[in-house]
Amino acid sequence: MTSTDFKYVYGPVASRRLGRSLGVDLVPFKTCSYDCVYCQLGRTTCQTTQRSEYVPVDDVLAELKTKLALGPWPDYIGLAGSGEPTLHARIGELIDGIKHLTRVPVAVLTNGSLLWVPDVQEALMEADLVMPSLDAGDEPMFQHVNRPHPEILFEVMVDGLAAFAARFRKLLWLEVLLVEGLTGNETEVGKIAALARRIRPGRVQLNTVSRPPAEESVKPVSAQQLAALCRLFPKAVEIISDAASQNPLPDSLAAVTDQEILDLLARRPCTPQGVAAGLNLHLQEATKRLHTLMKAGELSVLRKDDDLFYQLVMAPADQDSC
Ligand code: SF4
Repeated sequence: MTSTDFKYVYGPVASRRLGRSLGVDLVPFKTCSYDCVYCQLGRTTCQTTQRSEYVPVDDVLAELKTKLALGPWPDYIGLAGSGEPTLHARIGELIDGIKHLTRVPVAVLTNGSLLWVPDVQEALMEADLVMPSLDAGDEPMFQHVNRPHPEILFEVMVDGLAAFAARFRKLLWLEVLLVEGLTGNETEVGKIAALARRIRPGRVQLNTVSRPPAEESVKPVSAQQLAALCRLFPKAVEIISDAASQNPLPDSLAAVTDQEILDLLARRPCTPQGVAAGLNLHLQEATKRLHTLMKAGELSVLRKDDDLFYQLVMAPADQDSC
């Protein structure tokens, strides 16, 4: 199997939260229950709460087995990708399958919207780390920031987070992504912190916009403001960013194909530095490869503040609604 044969597994990519994480995409591009204003993947094209076997579990496991055999060994296998992973109706069986395949811990990055569903709670019990989001402290702000599917009610979603946190025996880290002018202030963060007291996650991780968002008007909260807002939470809060991992892979493992670069950029736009860190390329090499792929019409470039982000040019079929 060559790298071009991997449809569901990508990376490993470097992330501050998970170290080197091998990503697994469980739903088609932008299949999600939310349509967040800050989403780095653009507007949601398939907004749904319908759980289904969007991608075949056996095929995902076969890809993972091959990818793990090829190396390098990741710190985590992250179920995330281009949409909401708990929409996959067999995510529990997939986690179970991964556990039979490897001892690499499994992390689920979820928007948390379906954690009130008993089947979803049950399905995630074997994961090693669950990372749900909570970006708003009340229903109006929830509608504004996350633009959820009409079937998702704020109170039900928060109750689901608290119920899951009470049951789950492994690691639970709550991500709070703040947006300047909306939630990046004491009043809104105070409401979120009150809910965090109820949910009682092992950690709260504060984040802000760092890649080109779905809505151009969305801006990041300054580092100083993030630091000041930390004190509103009951216990120590971590400020996270997409800073590159401090643990580069050995050079011998760094043979990176164009397809691997495209696979990474299909899941998130990156700066040349992000591509270099994520795929263990020298910065010059990453920049050269990105320029070549852009000339070939595979990538487009977006400016955000002082940074240039490269993103995959999507074929119209990839953006179809569901
Ligand atoms: S940020 Fe996550 S939850 Fe929000 S729309 Fe994008 S994929 Fe969905």
